[in-house]
Amino acid sequence: MQTHPLGLFIIPDEHLNERLATASRLDVTTAHILAPSGEQRSSRALQELKHALNDAGVETTVMFCGFEGESYASIPTVRETVGLVPEATRAQRLDEAKRISDMAAELGISVTALHVGFIPDAFNTREYGNIVETVGALADHCAGNGQWLHLETGQETVDTLLHFLEDLGRPNVAVNFDPANMILYGTGDPIEAVQRLSDLIRSVHCKDATWSPRPRIEWGKEVPLGEGDVGMERFLVALKEVGYVGPLTIEREIVGEQQLRDIERGVKLLRELRAKIWGE
Ligand code: MG
Repeated sequence: MQTHPLGLFIIPDEHLNERLATASRLDVTTAHILAPSGEQRSSRALQELKHALNDAGVETTVMFCGFEGESYASIPTVRETVGLVPEATRAQRLDEAKRISDMAAELGISVTALHVGFIPDAFNTREYGNIVETVGALADHCAGNGQWLHLETGQETVDTLLHFLEDLGRPNVAVNFDPANMILYGTGDPIEAVQRLSDLIRSVHCKDATWSPRPRIEWGKEVPLGEGDVGMERFLVALKEVGYVGPLTIEREIVGEQQLRDIERGVKLLRELRAKIWGE
């Protein structure tokens, strides 16, 4: 069995079947999936989803939380709206994330993941303590489902993330490492971050981006895999050096034909690099 199978980030919307057909055609065998919403959550719809994934030969390794009201339009809107950090929606989103963990468990998925949001680095405040407590409660709920909770990188520096993980102190919490996010948000060099997070990295997004001229204020630009500032080869070499074992999951955050073309080229690039680096 391959220790670094290829994967795709899949949104289970009306284009699900096209995405699964692409995965099958490219012989991609794993996926991260965004949590279904609304009517897609009925037991029947979940069983249909499970069958569609099975029929495509795709094993889902992570389910991601998405919350109503989140906006990735700009860095300031992310700060205001994303994850478990905004106080006004924190309690209801914690409940929602627990429901998503339960849904993942029903589908046999062993990891729930999310963007926590902009974790404050004022560590001695009540606000920070409340966020630790909230994410801790979610981690404990995941543990009850026999799951890991993966926090996706990007909105905070690696220093803040390491501090936060230590304060959480939960054995079932790890990192979903997305090197492009660190560039998009301007939060630090992704390769150095891999070296420092080391074996805390238990899943990854293979995504690429170029630095913003105004890091941490304006977005960088997401680009096709291999065309940005991550340096896919050095990223994968860094993962090898820290002993990463697990899927290499392509995330391309555009829609339509161009997305499918970019994914196809990304798969080809990852296959070449995987052969060179891991001999798989
Ligand atoms: Mg990502």
